[in-house]
Amino acid sequence: MTLHSATLAVNETLRARQAAGERVLHLGFGEAGLPVPESVTRTLARSARLNGYAPVAGSPEAREAAAGWFGRRGTQTRPEQVIFAPGSKALLFALLAALPGDVVLPRPAWVSYAAQTALVGKRAIGVPIPAATGGVPDPDLLDGALRAARAEGADPRTLVLTVPDNPTGTVARDEQLRAVCETAERHGLAVIADEIYAELCHTGRAPSPHRHLPERTVITSGLSKSMAVGGWRIGFARVPEGDWGRSLLAELTGIASEVWSGIAAPMQAVAAHVLADPPDVLEHVDRARALHARVAAAVHAEFAAAGARCRAPEGGFYLYPDFEPLRSALEAQGIGKSAELSRALLERHGIGVLPGEVFGDAPEALRFRVATSLLYGERDDERWQTLASDDPVSLPWIRTALEHLRSGLAELTGGA
Ligand code: PLP
Repeated sequence: MTLHSATLAVNETLRARQAAGERVLHLGFGEAGLPVPESVTRTLARSARLNGYAPVAGSPEAREAAAGWFGRRGTQTRPEQVIFAPGSKALLFALLAALPGDVVLPRPAWVSYAAQTALVGKRAIGVPIPAATGGVPDPDLLDGALRAARAEGADPRTLVLTVPDNPTGTVARDEQLRAVCETAERHGLAVIADEIYAELCHTGRAPSPHRHLPERTVITSGLSKSMAVGGWRIGFARVPEGDWGRSLLAELTGIASEVWSGIAAPMQAVAAHVLADPPDVLEHVDRARALHARVAAAVHAEFAAAGARCRAPEGGFYLYPDFEPLRSALEAQGIGKSAELSRALLERHGIGVLPGEVFGDAPEALRFRVATSLLYGERDDERWQTLASDDPVSLPWIRTALEHLRSGLAELTGGA
């Protein structure tokens, strides 16, 4: 476990280097670098006078809006099944604390699951992801991994799935979700479906594990990625219908009442507005999704041209290239591990990424995560221009970034 989330730490390091005038290509942080639509900032401004404590699980308006939001996406939901928190990260932590037993994670997986699991004093059991997608343990390995974990004294009771996935930028297939949910059910596991990137699936609606295990799946989501308001801290979760879901929600609300008391009252108003799906918000998210897909595809092409293996991007704004095919060229430069590769990219080529190791991947694998969402411009006017553009990769700030990446990768690989 790192003491400071690796992803937040790399952001601070890269920002400091940029502020000191270094030419650094920031591919290290999963912040959706886009501006906020006018109707949303207006809602926030109008709500500034809401200064009292709000209900712990969320205002009736926000919970009602979230229930409708899930319903319009095919998951019928009552407001009583919804809880808000300052970011879905807080809810994931509360879930890992509230649910009994140890935690099964895809390997690699988003950095905070394992760190949070350790913080609540539980074991994390990593199961490798399949070749095509991430966010899900390889269905062929899950059953054996659960048996092996039990034989070693662990008590796996919760499975975390990320659809679409960070770090791989892929979307698990529905058959994979069905298979892992069947295994989870056989072994009596609960599923946490982290769907924070669901609105940003490049290829249509992302499948949900909830369909395969409705009575034991908790969905977490939030506005940080689709609306690019990570700094506003708006997350929410949906528990299943029935006794299990009801008592879990009561436990989550109990934790919330002792730790964060509820999300900021003005943010409840923002959530109620955004989750009602007004047309300008839907259009904004459509444009954002198309932009993420376009830029991630352009960055993917650079890694492919450099000779790395890389799953094609399908959701969110991430890539997870594998430089194994270039191992001998890299070893000649003293690079044999993901941390060494990331360090060389930063120190020698001014490219900031996060090594696969921090996502739980094998340290000696030559993999790292690339976030493409901070390429859209430094200022709000540039970001609006990027969002409005039909050909964003031709904009000077994105073109320059792609050129930086291309030349850096060519230098790294010796133009191989
Ligand atoms: N889950 C995943 C997979 C993420 O990538 C992130 C943010 O990077 C989060 C959850 C947490 O988001 P937030 O706490 O802003 O809702």
